[in-house]
Amino acid sequence: MKLSDIRVPTENEYIYCIRCGLCLAVCPTYREHLTETASPRGRVVLIRKALEGELELSPNLFEQMYSCFACLACNEICPVGNCPADLAMEMRYVQEQLRPAAWKRPLFGGLIPYPTRMELVTLPLRLYQTLGLRRLVYALGLRRLMPPHLRDMEAMLPHLPQRPLRRVLPEVTTAGGESRYRVGFFLGCVQSLMFAAESAATVRVLARNRCTVITPKEVKCCGMPALGYGYKETVQDLARHNIAIFEQTGVDVIVTDCATCGSTLKEYDKLLADDPVWAKRAEAFSRKVRDVSEFLMDIPLEKPQSRLKIRATYHDPCHLRRAQGVWEQPRALMQMIEGLEFIELEEANWCCGSAGTQLITHPQTSLKVLARKMDHVEATGAQFVASGCPGCQMQLNVGVRRRGLRMEVVHPVVLLDRAYVMSNEE
Ligand code: SF4
Ligand code: SF4
Repeated sequence: MKLSDIRVPTENEYIYCIRCGLCLAVCPTYREHLTETASPRGRVVLIRKALEGELELSPNLFEQMYSCFACLACNEICPVGNCPADLAMEMRYVQEQLRPAAWKRPLFGGLIPYPTRMELVTLPLRLYQTLGLRRLVYALGLRRLMPPHLRDMEAMLPHLPQRPLRRVLPEVTTAGGESRYRVGFFLGCVQSLMFAAESAATVRVLARNRCTVITPKEVKCCGMPALGYGYKETVQDLARHNIAIFEQTGVDVIVTDCATCGSTLKEYDKLLADDPVWAKRAEAFSRKVRDVSEFLMDIPLEKPQSRLKIRATYHDPCHLRRAQGVWEQPRALMQMIEGLEFIELEEANWCCGSAGTQLITHPQTSLKVLARKMDHVEATGAQFVASGCPGCQMQLNVGVRRRGLRMEVVHPVVLLDRAYVMSNEE
């Protein structure tokens, strides 16, 4: 395949860079490496030169695209409207069109789009937890014997459920009281497989606030993992599938408690803009999508009656704050809880180093970025660090366990749910 035969970024997407360097100050990969090629400006230059034929489209060049954490900070700050983060993502798609990597097909084509297969593959992880092996590993200090990288992988895991939530949650959860809204709940794969308790809490909170919650079981992955690895056509197929599923539910709004899912679902309209059959349907779908904190702060939300005497802080997921512009709502939601002392986190909107799989693919940079985040988290003295993204939560779990902190990583909605549960008990 030649460059002229495939879809590449247009000149307009990179030509206007004035090399001002503003983006360097906000880029976590530049901050850690201090090299131009690891910066947004450097990536834009690499892309321009490669597409104009001055540089070879080499594995090294594509590696700079994969070392971008997709935190979107450069997009936000660029004074001329360049989007280096989007360009890096598009170049991953260019690579897939030019030289498809054999290892990606089984993963993004044969595994991730199929919830049942994902449930099977992750079964050993759930057994590790539910058979008590994990407790044993911690009690006997066996984690110390693991190679450091494996130890960090282990530390990422939250408390895993016995069964995926998809298997447990009813298709329809009735509203507590007269129903005010018919809400579609998009249950993300990671939420179902790993953060089941959190999403169960989300559904309880929605129902308590008089929403009838519809959770379609046939939904598939939102598509972000495939998008991040240049599998654009797969993401479009997933989008069509998910749109069709939710069209059948007749819901007023589609809520998700995963920042990454939310940011992808809200972009289905752009992903399918050139598809004459699906463009309008995708637009209607994306218009309905809300992060759970966004939705809850929009409706008359019941204030919990009991006090939760805790100190908590909040880390902004890039996919929530920058991709969706949602940052006030999770804070407001936490501050509704009587007794909760909210400590604003220094550099709360700086990437935590997760970026999906960066801890696996670029562990050194990822851990350096995490260390910066954890210095600020530790300084708050909080018992809880909240964040509305499973990727961020897993990364923060690593930070908390590495430092041996007595701190729980939670979704903000979990704190609200706990306050409601306490109100019931009082
Ligand atoms: S902020 Fe924008 S214009 Fe300035 S160097 Fe970065 S990409 Fe170029
Ligand atoms: S998205 Fe984040 S990591 Fe990637 S170039 Fe922009 S600022 Fe740097």
